[in-house]
Amino acid sequence: MAILPILQFEEKIVEIVEKNPVVVIIGETGSGKSTQLSQILHRRGYTKSRCIAITQPRRVAAVSVSRRVAQELGVRLGEEVGYAIRFEDRTSEKTIIKYLTDGVLLRESLSDPELRQYSVIILDEAHERSLNTDILLGLMKRLIKLRQSNLKVLITSATLDGEKVSRFFSNCPILNVPGKLYPVEIQHIPETPKSYVEASLKAAIDIHVREPEGDVLIFMTGQDDIEKLVSRLEERIQNLEEGSCMDAVILPLHGSLPPELQIRVFSPPSPNCRRFIVATNIAETSLTVDGVVYVIDSGFVKQRQYNPSTGMYSLDVVQISKVQANQRAGRAGRTRPGKCYRLYPSMVYHDIFLDATVPEIQRSSLAGSVLYLKSLDLPDIDILNFDFLDPPSSESLEDALKQLYIIDAIDEDGSITNLGRTMAELPLEPSLSRTLLEANECGCLSQALTVAAMLSAETSLLLGQSKSNDKKRKQVPSNLPNGSGWGDHIQLLQIYELWHQTDYNIDWCKENNLKVRGMMFVKDVRKQLSQIMQKMAKGSLDVKISKRWKEGPDYRALRKALCSGYANQLAERMIRHNGFRTFGFKSQLVQVHPSSVLTADEDGMLPNYVVYHELIVTTRPYMRNVCAIEMQWVRPILAKLDNMNVSKLSGGTNQSNEKIQVATVDLPKDADIAKPSID
Ligand code: ADP
Repeated sequence: MAILPILQFEEKIVEIVEKNPVVVIIGETGSGKSTQLSQILHRRGYTKSRCIAITQPRRVAAVSVSRRVAQELGVRLGEEVGYAIRFEDRTSEKTIIKYLTDGVLLRESLSDPELRQYSVIILDEAHERSLNTDILLGLMKRLIKLRQSNLKVLITSATLDGEKVSRFFSNCPILNVPGKLYPVEIQHIPETPKSYVEASLKAAIDIHVREPEGDVLIFMTGQDDIEKLVSRLEERIQNLEEGSCMDAVILPLHGSLPPELQIRVFSPPSPNCRRFIVATNIAETSLTVDGVVYVIDSGFVKQRQYNPSTGMYSLDVVQISKVQANQRAGRAGRTRPGKCYRLYPSMVYHDIFLDATVPEIQRSSLAGSVLYLKSLDLPDIDILNFDFLDPPSSESLEDALKQLYIIDAIDEDGSITNLGRTMAELPLEPSLSRTLLEANECGCLSQALTVAAMLSAETSLLLGQSKSNDKKRKQVPSNLPNGSGWGDHIQLLQIYELWHQTDYNIDWCKENNLKVRGMMFVKDVRKQLSQIMQKMAKGSLDVKISKRWKEGPDYRALRKALCSGYANQLAERMIRHNGFRTFGFKSQLVQVHPSSVLTADEDGMLPNYVVYHELIVTTRPYMRNVCAIEMQWVRPILAKLDNMNVSKLSGGTNQSNEKIQVATVDLPKDADIAKPSID
């Protein structure tokens, strides 16, 4: 096998790293950045007294790359080479090369702000511009000043604007690793297809029938479309005349695939057999699949976007950027000249695609990040003026401050509260952390831990469906409990408690259509959260672990805790409508998501007040994971909202009381929205 490009630059890399605290390394995907840089620096003594950390924006990449490096070094994963992702730590005392998600490194810096255990920190895949990597970039700037002589920071990327990052780090050197990329012939189709799944299917079959050997990589937007295409492709290939084509294997590749299925794409291709790899944009730069000669690019990607003025998330299928399109095409030319079939006209590429992808920091809720930065207590860090590579909008920062204020994480002057500090220590989003702490006070911590763990499960727990099509949830035939009329959080709790009563029986999961792996993951997460809380209770923080397990049939204590945690995600039922309006900066008219178990009472009415886990726009704005709460718990929250002074929260001196609107909402004339959402 050809030597990886980065290895040809070993001397140069070592020399430049020796002389500079920060270095930007740009190299084509597959040039060896993720797997080789850590090994080069390990060979050159950087692991003698401290370890090397390599961050990855994606959990799968951290697991897959560390597995590969352990293999190359001939060591057991979890020993000299390990990985740490949220709720899964496979490192040990022996670990000297540690792959971790950017979020885990941020969390580590809470207990060790100078990250002293590391001699080198490699921020890998910086071009992905994940929210956490962007925050790490800002923190690294500060850290290299503090640890000048004994910390090296490497920022690696396949496509990043190196000049910009270099300027950010006082013009640090940029090392370009030229990779060998064979020419890729690009073909556009003349018209945008009606269905890109169908268009991909046609292109794949055409390649299989007409083109010489070589694997095909197909970019889809998500698990649903991948599954659809995989089964259609299997069917079509089976129906091809025997002997007319070579054999074929079809492999899906996405983040929710179990690891043992993910690694199949790395096993060497068998001769005279074409592999079709049907992937999300995970295969764009994070995972390099060898043997690809043909790429089919749908031109789309699924992206979560947050709108700070409405507090709503939307999961949109959006057009990729030019940078992404070029990356995708590049996957075809790694081993020999290849072809890329773009399922969109060239005009779309030139005139409609953005040049680069919008960084996550400009399309995410920043509540968690702002709480994190505040809890670092760095005198020289001011949130609104934090040194970001691309700053988020002030609207989005203010939105984060408001959310944190409503859930008591910061006070009216914007300073972090003791509660906020405790919340930041939990590896959960602020609302769930707040729920746990309130539950601790209300004596229902055990139940809240279960709910938090169930909500933290990466994918849907029900078999045969992904998050995006969980509309079917109500229709799944099973004997699962229904939340007793209090909503989805309570249902999640009841499911887990039933499973607990069976002594975590695997067959019970299967009988009830629940994913065994998912439920085992929940059990593990619950245990970890409980351990973290117990550790906190031993520290200086006032956390009391309550052992109480059962409560009354109305789950009052738990619902109250959820109300405190989700005080920023509160909605009131509209009179006569059965739709809800949210409270917050701007009232929104929303409905309960059809997947919810929350049902109307005998009079056909839904509860008057609910809290929700998230607002998501699909065909219309929906609240997902909803819990009924009581009016008396809502009053103090409304009073707080009413007294909120945004300018003070932001640390400003302007005392004009910029109050939050809670009382008015314009009802659309269109009666459709007023229809009850639940039968
Ligand atoms: P880069 O970070 O520059 O994109 P990588 O270091 O990820 O490059 O990949 C270098 C080579 O290692 C590629 O040929 C890739 O296929 C291979 N590789 C990476 N991860 C694995 C893995 N888990 N199993 C097998 N091969 C892998």
